[in-house]
Amino acid sequence: MLSSATWPKKNTCPNASVPNKEFTVTNFWQKPLKNLTADEWEKICCRCGRCCLIKLQNDDNDEVFYTRIICRYFDTAKHLCREYSNRCRLVPSCLKVTPQNIDSLTWMPQTCAYRILNETGDLPPWHPLKGGQGFLPLPENLVTDISVAEEDMEDYIIEDKDL
Ligand code: SF4
Ligand code: SF4
Repeated sequence: MLSSATWPKKNTCPNASVPNKEFTVTNFWQKPLKNLTADEWEKICCRCGRCCLIKLQNDDNDEVFYTRIICRYFDTAKHLCREYSNRCRLVPSCLKVTPQNIDSLTWMPQTCAYRILNETGDLPPWHPLKGGQGFLPLPENLVTDISVAEEDMEDYIIEDKDL
């Protein structure tokens, strides 16, 4: 039975770290993640908003399901969080993604640029830093979390395994 709704999560500025001057790379994102500056880390996020979708977790096996319900603070026209600087106060479970915790955030969308970079060592071809179109789309027929009662959220689960 699906019973626990979790607030979506998003990235934020991690602590800046000193780049390793002996490490020679062509693109900054190919440095070890812990060596990225705060500004470089922020540029990895393509603002797709997929992590801002409400997720439900199966209490029996911890399986995570994505829904087409999105956080009330996500601006789908601008692809920005409307409360970015206040997000962790307004949404306590809106986690900061950092080089230190990305390994443990297994519920992040498989298409998250941070996740792909962490798992493959490179960004996908659609990423703007690679000259791509920007980001992959959000699910169709989105609704906001304030318009759906928690007991009805299960009805909004999407089957997209590639999300
Ligand atoms: S508060 Fe902002 S960053 Fe956090 S889930 Fe909502 S829209 Fe996304
Ligand atoms: S790239 Fe990752 S952190 Fe950025 S909005 Fe998309 S899913 Fe969220």
